[in-house]
Amino acid sequence: MFDYVLIHYGEIALKGLNRPFYERKLVENIKKALANQDYAGVKRIQGRLVIELSGRSDTSEIEWALRRVFGIAWFAFCYVTEADRESIQRCVDKNIVFNKGERVKVSTNRADKSIPFTSIELNRELGTHLVNAYNVKVSLKGPEKEIFVEIADGKAYIYTKKIKGVYGLPVGVSGKVLHLLSGGIDSPVAAWLLMKRGCEVDFLHFSPFQRFDEKWNGKIIELVKVLNRYSFGSRIFFVPFYPFELASIYAPTRYKLILFRRFMVRVAERLASKYGVVALGSGENLAQVSSQTLENLSVIEQASSIPILRPLLTYDKNEIVNIAKQIGTFKISVQPYKDCCSLFIAKHPATKTKLEDVEDIEAEMKIEEAVEDSVNKAEVIEVKDQL
Ligand code: ATP
Ligand code: MG
Repeated sequence: MFDYVLIHYGEIALKGLNRPFYERKLVENIKKALANQDYAGVKRIQGRLVIELSGRSDTSEIEWALRRVFGIAWFAFCYVTEADRESIQRCVDKNIVFNKGERVKVSTNRADKSIPFTSIELNRELGTHLVNAYNVKVSLKGPEKEIFVEIADGKAYIYTKKIKGVYGLPVGVSGKVLHLLSGGIDSPVAAWLLMKRGCEVDFLHFSPFQRFDEKWNGKIIELVKVLNRYSFGSRIFFVPFYPFELASIYAPTRYKLILFRRFMVRVAERLASKYGVVALGSGENLAQVSSQTLENLSVIEQASSIPILRPLLTYDKNEIVNIAKQIGTFKISVQPYKDCCSLFIAKHPATKTKLEDVEDIEAEMKIEEAVEDSVNKAEVIEVKDQL
């Protein structure tokens, strides 16, 4: 039975004076990720974190949860003992099974330099003991089993398997983003990438429906529940899109999509200022479809005074699909859904839109009134569950 989980972080290790803030956030997020798990506690020791397990800890559930916490580079379930040679050898003998002829390697890492032996000495002594006791072979280049001994804070943490984390930075260190979420493949992946850089992400969805609940907007809520595995809870703002539809009835078809994009951004910006959000997020990509030209992205951007973050800008579609599959949103994204954008698809959409042209059309449409109407009709729901 394992005693502890040892956690190493990636980029946080590079932080200077801000590091305690990043570490505290990571601890907070680990506690949220393990809210339903049995364990004794989490603490920081010498540039790493340790989770003390309890007799009732479910290691496979804990592994599943930790694999989804941004900020973790890798982690290991380990046995813990006093940091002296005899205790370490006894602990290895007690807990690790060796097969005759197996190629093994011992790798010691001392964060705690007060220990009266070097890493190389321990590697050599423990390796010799294993050869004598179990008839294994030491192989530094191609071991079948690696025994890691990590010495930190006066204790030895012993493990054989490093489990890869998701890297990134802890959700919450970079501020709040209001993300435009459609029912498609791209925008949930973009949200995940923003979370990966430490953003706390709330969602805004323009809905073809006027009622906002599981029955009508189940797909959107499901996507957010999957993303909650990484962010541990978020809000969705639902806004009906019929005020835009009514306002744009006489607008030229080829401009409707870009008008809708600018409209979404305006509504988002208004909600953002009300809820302390510092940037907007979107799943837009450069040149994925004919409307996503640099000119159009620029015209969209000019409808907002706060930045629009587009983490997928340079990704290929197949890279996006791969991430969607890996994070669990793909299966939901491909379910049928009546998304608003599909209603504005023109045979020949405007690809190199000029700001003046769009502004003239918007003035005719009385865009501000439609924005005001939508903001007033916004409904927010808190989504705490994970799927
Ligand atoms: P996705 O797969 O995310 O729908 P897409 O390539 O299909 O992306 P578009 O439909 O052109 O792209 O939409 C571009 C972006 O606009 C989306 O990624 C999303 O951020 C935003 N968006 C589109 N439709 C909506 C909507 N109904 N509500 C909120 N945001 C939307
Ligand atoms: Mg879409």
